[in-house]
Amino acid sequence: MTGPLNPPPRLLMGPGPITVDPRVLQAMSAQLVGQFDPWMTATMTEVMDLYRHVFATANEQTLLVDGTSRAGIEAALVSLIEPGDRVLVPVFGRFGHLLVEIAERCGAEVHTIEVPWGEVFAPEAVEAALVAVRPRIVALVQGDTSTTMCQPLEEIGAICRAHDALLYVDATASIGGNPLLTDAWGLDVVTAGLQKCLGGPSGSAPITIGPRAVAAIGARKHVEAGIRAEGDQDAGVRIASNYLDLAQIMDYWGPRRLNHHTEATSMLYAARECARLLVEEGLEAAIARHELHGRAMLHGVQGLGLEVFGDVAHKMSNVVAVRIPDTLGASGGDAVREALLTDFGIEIGTSFGPLHGMVWRIGTMGYNARRDAVMTTLAALEQVLRAAGVPVSAGGGVGAATEVYQ
Ligand SMILES: *Cc1c(COP(=O)(O)O)cnc(C)c1O
Repeated sequence: MTGPLNPPPRLLMGPGPITVDPRVLQAMSAQLVGQFDPWMTATMTEVMDLYRHVFATANEQTLLVDGTSRAGIEAALVSLIEPGDRVLVPVFGRFGHLLVEIAERCGAEVHTIEVPWGEVFAPEAVEAALVAVRPRIVALVQGDTSTTMCQPLEEIGAICRAHDALLYVDATASIGGNPLLTDAWGLDVVTAGLQKCLGGPSGSAPITIGPRAVAAIGARKHVEAGIRAEGDQDAGVRIASNYLDLAQIMDYWGPRRLNHHTEATSMLYAARECARLLVEEGLEAAIARHELHGRAMLHGVQGLGLEVFGDVAHKMSNVVAVRIPDTLGASGGDAVREALLTDFGIEIGTSFGPLHGMVWRIGTMGYNARRDAVMTTLAALEQVLRAAGVPVSAGGGVGAATEVYQ
């Protein structure tokens, strides 16, 4: 007989998922209520309002897509892009490539501009590409965890408007730990996830859809609640997904509550508690907390004598990429991660693509953007590195972090 579920205690200090806030776990264990029960519909309305705070928006269409963050990304792109549309993707890491791949599957004519990993785009570079490509849609990542970079967005929204393009932003990794002002910055659609700075598990994708995007989606052929009426047969370019059809999902969350999917109720409870935690703390206070503990971790790894990857001035507050010392050799980086996990129960992240084998990624996000989590990780890292033969200064990591906190 398989035993009861008993996961080992871990401190998840990678680039996500992170250790879930106990309040979120508790919310998830609450009993289900039927999805058209008045309590449930009122709760859904509450969640919409909470996420307006999280996204800093007045957008009526602020809701949850059920699925991991990628479900939110796909819902946005499949609902906005019509086959043949020109889409511009400025790529500065792995998740930019994901936007390219999804946009291609939607039948878009995709154009990219790229900067080397570890850098971000100047607004002028994005504008020049807009002029050259004349895209209908620009798809952009705010914080790309693969490189830890945070793309400044303040000016991009206005640039897209001036060139008559819709702007979609993936803010999964950055939201809650770095400033994101949907309305003030003119972002048309923004999607997120719970498992980074929001302190929850993956499995729900908050999304906000501005009026220009709502109009674009509404202009596409769509059938209410999936039921075809006479004459619908000739429908033109329908959204190529049922589950991720934002027109239907908006009808489902809207006042008419048209049936679509069965609400992932336990995830809705989780998403609600994540937003409540953030609103209770205050958006600015949460961002300041991520900035503080992220800076303590940054100075801590530097205090151990390690080098940080990328343009630190444009780093997300909540994750740092640390160069694996050459002395560790080809498989040394993985051996260090393994020792941290087995000896200390601490998980840090590996990396992908051009950074594979070159850096570790250490997160300080959500529930783990905490002083004790930072100190414990730095102390453990020092021991593991010393055991692996890397010359590290005794107490250098914890000492440097302490200075940040003083
Ligand atoms: C972590 C991350 C995701 C995660 O997507 P999932 O579907 O939840 O795995 C998406 N986008 C970015 C930019 C991320 O950093």
